[in-house]
Amino acid sequence: MSQDPVKKAAELLRQGATMLGDACPECGSPLFKLKSGDVVCPQHGKVVIVKDDQEELKVKSEVLLSQVEERLIQGLERASGKIREAPEDPDVVNQVIRYLEALERVRRIRK
Ligand SMILES: [Zn+2]
Repeated sequence: MSQDPVKKAAELLRQGATMLGDACPECGSPLFKLKSGDVVCPQHGKVVIVKDDQEELKVKSEVLLSQVEERLIQGLERASGKIREAPEDPDVVNQVIRYLEALERVRRIRK
């Protein structure tokens, strides 16, 4: 992830990859098709295959939902830290419950 994406893109081209007209739904970098047929983003190396608009939308929503899930987990971590400090505080407990409910929903949608 720390690798320079321009350098990585040049490297991919040297390896015989071709640049596609599609952009990565996550970072907007141009995508590259490897000789193996895999589609890769030079920004974070993740393989993303975008077939058509519907597929693109699916990939986008999956990326978005995984970001939401990640942020909810971070929030839950913070809230659980507060529980340790103030275990009797009903607001803190409610906050944890709200995070858990939101996480449950996100995970249900992602399935
Ligand atoms: Zn990307």
